[in-house]
Amino acid sequence: MGASLARRPRIRSRERLSRYSSIRIGGPVSAVVCVSTAEEMEEVFVLRSQDKIPGPLFFSGRGSNILFPDQGIEGTLVRFEPGDLTSACRWTEEGEVYADAGFPLPALAREAARRGIGGFEFLAGIPGTVGGAAVMNAGAGGREWSNLCKSVTVMYPSGAIETLSAERMGYGYRTSLFADRPLERMGASGPGNIPKGIVLLGALLSGPCSSPEDCQALLSRHLDYRKRTQPLEEPSLGSVFRNPDDGPAGYTAGRLIEEAGLKGERRGGITVSLRHANFFVNTGGGSEREFRELLEDVTQRVREHWGVVLEPEVRMWNS
Ligand SMILES: Cc1cc2nc3c(=O)[nH]c(=O)nc-3n(C[C@H](O)[C@H](O)[C@H](O)COP(=O)(O)OP(=O)(O)OC[C@H]3O[C@@H](n4cnc5c(N)ncnc54)[C@H](O)[C@@H]3O)c2cc1C
Repeated sequence: MGASLARRPRIRSRERLSRYSSIRIGGPVSAVVCVSTAEEMEEVFVLRSQDKIPGPLFFSGRGSNILFPDQGIEGTLVRFEPGDLTSACRWTEEGEVYADAGFPLPALAREAARRGIGGFEFLAGIPGTVGGAAVMNAGAGGREWSNLCKSVTVMYPSGAIETLSAERMGYGYRTSLFADRPLERMGASGPGNIPKGIVLLGALLSGPCSSPEDCQALLSRHLDYRKRTQPLEEPSLGSVFRNPDDGPAGYTAGRLIEEAGLKGERRGGITVSLRHANFFVNTGGGSEREFRELLEDVTQRVREHWGVVLEPEVRMWNS
């Protein structure tokens, strides 16, 4: 595969991680490499093996669920980007689709709706990629990634490619075997039956046949709900905490935080959103340290108020 490279991966040195996270937080990183195709990813592994880019490698999509550290990272952030939108998402007559890791979820939802393939509508307002959703088992409104996913394609540092069935991904509520491992060791080690050092290249998905009108109506309802309830115009990482299963019946993390009186609570540039209490927003110049301080404070006060220990949903370094 390496001999017929059409494009080289795009390498940038000494970038700031804040550029690569939706909450605009993060210090310097030795290098960032943007990849869209399997060929480019293979080339990254080759460059790494020749020490032409600094290690270790870390993988991301849009960075819409990652809190990067203020002090930065030594190594290379490999960021999956959409590339050519037409070839990055391939539909079959049977209503299945293979989408590359960097493909944006909202575009996937829109195209499924246009084709009258149901079940993808909830992805319309999630500002991440196929790779990020496959790792996080992204979900909304009672639906999640694992309802759609049949298999994922992965690449080893050797360049070998393998298809893993969805069952092997170990999907649970906002988690998978990929998400189980600490973020700073993504790509360096793997638990359970997920082998070492692998990266996600894409996923095969399917949904039931519906009609474009029904899909579009449901998709619009998802987007309208978000616009009404979430601070979409401010930098954030979406929901900070997972919904607990030991709280009062029907109480989400957001409701626990709100009814503990914590909306508007702030540390420096980071604030508990007034629109949605499970969102922390960066109102300007916010840092990882402030985010973590606010997270600890909210966790403690919710525990005091409700006796419930909230667990973070966002991916953080060193935790
Ligand atoms: C406004 C807003 C609303 C949101 N709403 C929701 C919601 O409703 N539901 C929900 O579940 N989430 C939501 N999120 C969080 C986030 O968008 C999802 O978790 C999304 O799936 C992350 O995708 P990403 O491409 O940004 O992944 P990233 O944040 O870049 O990465 C997430 C994890 O996946 C890993 N990863 C990413 N790509 C690869 C790859 N190719 N190979 C190996 N590992 C990879 C990263 O290392 C990291 O561990 C929201 C976020 C925001 C900002």
